[in-house]
Amino acid sequence: MKNVLVIGAGNMGSALTRALATQGNHVAVWNRTPEKARALADVARPAQDLFSAVSEADLIVVSVSDYAACGEIIYTGEFAQAVGDATIVQLTSGSPEDARRSQAWAQSLGVDYLDAAILAYPSFVGTEYATVFYSGSKAGFDRHEETLKAFSNAPVFAGEAVGAASALDCAILQAYYGGCLAFLHAAALCEAEGIPGTAFLDYKAAFVGLIDITADAAREMMDQQDFSGVQCSLDTHVAALKNIVRMSEDSGVAPEVPRAIHQAYQDTVASGRGGLELPALYEFFRRTN
Ligand code: NAP
Repeated sequence: MKNVLVIGAGNMGSALTRALATQGNHVAVWNRTPEKARALADVARPAQDLFSAVSEADLIVVSVSDYAACGEIIYTGEFAQAVGDATIVQLTSGSPEDARRSQAWAQSLGVDYLDAAILAYPSFVGTEYATVFYSGSKAGFDRHEETLKAFSNAPVFAGEAVGAASALDCAILQAYYGGCLAFLHAAALCEAEGIPGTAFLDYKAAFVGLIDITADAAREMMDQQDFSGVQCSLDTHVAALKNIVRMSEDSGVAPEVPRAIHQAYQDTVASGRGGLELPALYEFFRRTN
């Protein structure tokens, strides 16, 4: 059992604190607004003095709004003086570049550093529905793997390149946010034609299943580097997208959303890929960045 300090007692930090305590660790929790740390007193010691709590910890878990907030708390001379040989696990969401800067700071102090990303709502922490990626110090991951299982039973070490965890997080969230935007817009489109949005969601299996099948097909095509096929050409998809743009414009339901999607597909066709299958978008995006 470890001495763990959690920095940040917001929605996520509170869930992480409870999960660590359930596992039997000695947990201290510090929060800028002390009431939130005190609200966890049934499971963790609210730390009044951040730096003495830092000096006592084997493992420091950080979960605050963003890296700018971290900067105010931990990228300070007082923190640097207090931290001993603890491992820092940065669970604040950020970009790969944030992770690299943070690792450089930790290395300058000789501190073991893991950048991490949690794919779960707080109520899923510690359940099979939580996925947590870690990258950076493999030695730090190995040393604390059992403790980190408090958050997710199967923690994923994504590699020693410290940006890997946040890269996977951003990529998965991009697919999630884009997918949610599209299906909620689609529900509003149905409503404009007198079909309740809830009735549209009864067809969830139709669009979720199509994405699932397309992801499998895309994987095979990426492996083969061959995007040809006889299912449905990008030319045909662009014609379908045009209908969605017209429907949105006619009903006044945020036409910018389908216009932007249509444009990306159109650009891929304009690059000479109109006869290829839909996953050729990947090849187009990859080669133009
Ligand atoms: P939250 O409930 O809004 O909590 C934010 C925390 O950050 C609070 O402890 C807050 O302290 C602290 N904070 C903000 N600015 C600060 C500053 N300048 N100095 C010191 N402390 C500061 O947010 P959350 O949902 O817990 O999210 C925390 C992290 O987890 C974020 O990076 C988020 O992206 C990530 N995450 C959240 C979820 C989720 O579903 N909630 C899922 C995955 C990842 P005060 O209480 O004093 O304001």
